[in-house]
Amino acid sequence: MKIAIIGAGPAGLVAAKEAAEAGMAPTIYEKNNSIGGLWSEEDGHVWKGMRTNLSKWTCSFSDFPWPIDAELFPKSENVQAYLKSYCLEFDLEKHLRLGQEVCCIETLSDGFKVRLSNKQAEVFDKVIVASGMFSRPWLPKPKRENETSVVHVHSSNIDRISDVSGRAVCVIGGSFSGIEISQLLVERGASKVYFVSDSNTWVIPRRVIDDSTGHEIPIDFLFYKRKEKSVDEHARPKRIIKYLTFLSRNLAILGWRILS
Ligand SMILES: Cc1cc2nc3c(=O)[nH]c(=O)nc-3n(C[C@H](O)[C@H](O)[C@H](O)COP(=O)(O)OP(=O)(O)OC[C@H]3O[C@@H](n4cnc5c(N)ncnc54)[C@H](O)[C@@H]3O)c2cc1C
Repeated sequence: MKIAIIGAGPAGLVAAKEAAEAGMAPTIYEKNNSIGGLWSEEDGHVWKGMRTNLSKWTCSFSDFPWPIDAELFPKSENVQAYLKSYCLEFDLEKHLRLGQEVCCIETLSDGFKVRLSNKQAEVFDKVIVASGMFSRPWLPKPKRENETSVVHVHSSNIDRISDVSGRAVCVIGGSFSGIEISQLLVERGASKVYFVSDSNTWVIPRRVIDDSTGHEIPIDFLFYKRKEKSVDEHARPKRIIKYLTFLSRNLAILGWRILS
């Protein structure tokens, strides 16, 4: 069975490895010239020195552990090396078509025709779309476009503003990237860092003390486990609470827009 896989990020690589092991013939189409998707050093969207937000015990393929001396929270460059080793270990390179962008998929009566931007096309029995969900940065336009002294970048381009020494920086967005970039800017000498988030943000260290044992453990051991999921499902808010939360949040945003 011929399988087309779109994307050579972690999802595409693991899909190809599993397909090959099950006796299928995978072909991985990757529009960039490197593997790793978001983690690629050449074409990715993470910055140098960025650490994983999950420990090496969780942020790994189940059949391919990190090297024994890997740091607990590896850096983005280590993840890229890890993904390259994964390709080597499972001989995935022979399935790769780098620099080939899929532009459309046609459904046939007995399969799929995968069309590429370079006008080539090939027929497959099945297609797996592993094109990622964080690969298109969204950067709103500044209101005063002719304001040349203000540098305006997306988090995936943060290394473009490495010289922040003595400057004031505003970070917009309150999830993992926003928090980590705020810290990075302070380390790089920014005089002030304003952190803007549209919701309450918990800033939690990567390592926490486990109350039951007193040992330091990575945060994913505490939060990302089946038991927590079932507790979360059990404690899911009632529909009326959800509705009121939705309403009040949007009223607050509307009020804020009118004021600004
Ligand atoms: C800043 C940031 C930090 C993160 N940190 C972590 C972390 O610490 N731990 C963790 O587990 N996850 C983290 N994530 C989540 C991350 O999405 C996953 O780790 C992982 O990269 C998802 O893999 P993927 O293969 O689904 O997608 P991607 O890594 O995005 O790969 C998709 C690939 O598909 C290719 N592609 C897209 N369209 C086409 C096309 N038409 N034709 C050919 N190729 C195409 C792209 O070029 C890309 O190479 C983070 C995400 C971000 C944005």
